[in-house]
Formats: sequence, structure tokens, C-alpha cells
Amino acid sequence: MTSRILIVEDEEKLAGLLRDYLTQEGFEVAMLHRGDQVEDWVRAHGTDLVLLDLMLPGKNGLDVCKALRAFADVSIIMVTARVDEIDRLLGLELGADDYICKPFSPREVVARVKAVLRRSKRGEAAPDGGLALDDSGYKATLAGKDLALTAVEFELLKVLVAHPGHIYTREQLMDLMYRDQRVVSDRTVDSHVKKIRKKIAGVLPDREIVHSVYGVGYKYEW
Ligand code: CA
Repeated sequence: MTSRILIVEDEEKLAGLLRDYLTQEGFEVAMLHRGDQVEDWVRAHGTDLVLLDLMLPGKNGLDVCKALRAFADVSIIMVTARVDEIDRLLGLELGADDYICKPFSPREVVARVKAVLRRSKRGEAAPDGGLALDDSGYKATLAGKDLALTAVEFELLKVLVAHPGHIYTREQLMDLMYRDQRVVSDRTVDSHVKKIRKKIAGVLPDREIVHSVYGVGYKYEW
């Protein structure tokens, strides 16, 4: 079935460009240029995914996101012009499925839209032969093979896996991993993630399951 995308973007040229790319990929695309038209439109027409700009005339993207969450079962990708804004948005726990920062390439948007739709259809469960975490021995098994993670790598992966699709900043990961409040640098998280990825790639070379979100942090997603 064709997935329906609603683009809410007041920069009409940009909205048109996204529409062209998404249409070419076989999506059914509608556009709105004001925030205060979104709820009524979604009630009347329904949609699978909303690409929602943050700064909009009429009603801002935050309020639109909250309103949609209250009544509609739709995926939401928030679009913001500021990378540092994403931290604040994450803290608000709006329930958006992903965040994209401008300027973006339309190809990147198409890829993110597909990933979010795939996730919403598949639910949060990993497929058979997926990842299993055994707390007792810090043992992570992927497709039946032991990943041989260190204790720290195991803790980090466990935090990510607990909420598939949720984007964690490096600070959040450090807080959740290091309960003894040792001071560690951002680079420590990066280097652990790098090692985890290498071990995952050793078992499933074609599959990325720990994703970096540019300028923000990391998430786990099949
Ligand atoms: Ca805008």
C-alpha cells in the first residue's frame, strides 16, 4: 500500500522540492504551509507520516506535534533549522519519531522517511536471530553469535536497546552508563560505539543497528 506523507513547511520552494523527491519514490504526498491547518487536515484526510517544520506561521511545530500525538496514530519527523535545538526537543519528549536538521539533502529525508515507516510497520521487535542481551554475564548475542563486548560496551548497548529508535545524546548515554558519576569525555562514548559497531559488523556486515544521528548522538534501530 502507498504510504501517505504530509509535508508541513512554510518555505514553499523547499516543500515542493521534498514533494518531488518523495513522489518519485512512490509516496502519496500532500503539503501544508501553516501550522494551524495541520490538525484539521489530518482529521479529515489521515496520513501515515508528517514531516513537520518547527518554525511555522499560525502554530509552531512543537504544539502541532503535541496535538497530533493526542489523537492521531501517525509517525512524525520534526525538522529544525538549528542543530542545537534538537537537544532541547529531545528533552521535551514530544514523541517525535526522528529529527532532521536543515540544511538537509532531499535524499537524506527520503531515507529517514523510509526508516521511520519501516519501523512503525514492524513494531519494535527485532527479527528472529536478533540481538539478545544477558545481564548476568554481560553477554550480548547477535544472530546466535557472542559479540564479546566489554562490560562498558555492554552497558552502552543495553541503554540504547531499551528504547529502539530513541535518540540519546552523548551526555544522556554517559549519565545512564556511568552511575558512579566518573567524568568521561564525549570521545569515550564515540570510541565505545565504534567498537560495538565493529563487533556487530563482524556478525552482520550488511546491517547497521547502532546509528549515529549527526550532531546529536546515537540510537538503536533495526
Ligand atoms: Ca519554517
